[in-house]
Amino acid sequence: MSPVPVVGVLALQGAFARHVDALRRLGFDPVEVRRPEQLAGIDALVMPGGESTTMIKLLTGFDLVEPLGKRLADGMPVFGTCAGMILLAANVLDGHQDQLCFGAIDVDVRRNGYGRQVDSFEADLRVAAVGDPPVRAVFIRAPVVVRTGPTVEVLAENDGVPVLCRQGPIMVSSFHPELTDDDRLHQLFLRSLG
Ligand code: GLN
Repeated sequence: MSPVPVVGVLALQGAFARHVDALRRLGFDPVEVRRPEQLAGIDALVMPGGESTTMIKLLTGFDLVEPLGKRLADGMPVFGTCAGMILLAANVLDGHQDQLCFGAIDVDVRRNGYGRQVDSFEADLRVAAVGDPPVRAVFIRAPVVVRTGPTVEVLAENDGVPVLCRQGPIMVSSFHPELTDDDRLHQLFLRSLG
């Protein structure tokens, strides 16, 4: 790993720009990843929210599925938010017929599982790993975590449902941490890079 880790942000679609801003505020010089060869030059990756089915089409079209799968299998640290969480999950319920997931973290999610009436909502979450104050979390047509494997750490829950999970180098949130100016969850992820 290089002295200052190079952090990529998957920039095919969705809410990647605010992640880039958050990483810059934390002193990193993020790389917007759109091409397979860029994956070789990064030490860690953020997979943003957006629309997972569109992202899958673009990942396929840009020949990123195989090289990204290989980096994940090799243990690259990744922070996946919302659609990013869906892509990293072990199983996706209510997915599109072509819904692909990398199985990088042992959680199952239900796509759009919070339902229509509460498509978007905000909540204050207690996250012991970052302390006080609570983290303001923005949920937008978010996935619901319906199962976590035995070695998955649940870092935060909302109404008893896991919404921030970690297993080894993979951290996932059902909400959008990049939409507030609170960078503590990005910091928590980056701390694992040493
Ligand atoms: N519902 C979206 C999907 O299925 C995820 C929403 C989001 O990333 N904000 O991909």
